[in-house]
Amino acid sequence: FNNELQHAEKMEIISELAASVAHEVRNPLQVTRGFLQLLGERSASSDKAYIDMALDELDRASGIITDFLTFAKPGAENIKTLSIAEEFRHIEGVLTPLASIHHGTIVMDIAPDLYVKGNSSKFKQAFINMIKNSIEAFQDEGQITIAASKENGEIVIRIRDDGVGMGPEELKRLGEPYFSNKTKGTGLGLMVTFRIIEAMQGTLKFSSEKGAGTEATIRLPEASE
Ligand code: ADP
Ligand code: MG
Repeated sequence: FNNELQHAEKMEIISELAASVAHEVRNPLQVTRGFLQLLGERSASSDKAYIDMALDELDRASGIITDFLTFAKPGAENIKTLSIAEEFRHIEGVLTPLASIHHGTIVMDIAPDLYVKGNSSKFKQAFINMIKNSIEAFQDEGQITIAASKENGEIVIRIRDDGVGMGPEELKRLGEPYFSNKTKGTGLGLMVTFRIIEAMQGTLKFSSEKGAGTEATIRLPEASE
């Protein structure tokens, strides 16, 4: 018991530290981004390609920092009643362009009047991380189906893709920090997603078959409107 307490205290300190470092580093990154963008507007097209690459890498760094911040603060603040349909309309708007770049589509089948309690931006982050993985798993083309309904008084959301899929060894490691099979992956996305879903008192399970696709099932307590 004593050990457990010490562990919890350590986690608390690490979380606080991660949050403050992430927060402090994000501001200069944003300023740098602004100046680079200005430079890009003024420079010859031969230089633009380099500036665009620099901007992409900066955005990647910002994304990693956002993940760390969320891990430290998975959304205990700003809790509201969220409409599942509304949240997913927004998520679809953000990710449909990315899906089409990768020759894929997103199909939604969301029942009306589904509500959960949570922090809206964390909720979106949790699902965007998962759906991005589905897009990145596309084979020549792909389809993602997002279904949400009520089952036995619980909100159940299923995200299915027909991408490359995973074997049992990969499945076991999902959510482990730094577990990634991608050249530019961070292995932080699902760690953050698990953390957010847990903070919402929910559960997240994956099933997958190599070469056939993956399905994530998220269960969340229902909230009244
Ligand atoms: P990252 O995307 O940075 O690699 P994640 O935590 O988001 O980190 O995912 C970890 C790994 O899990 C991925 O590298 C990938 O191998 C695997 N993975 C996650 N979701 C899927 C999916 N829908 N289809 C196939 N593989 C997946
Ligand atoms: Mg990812």
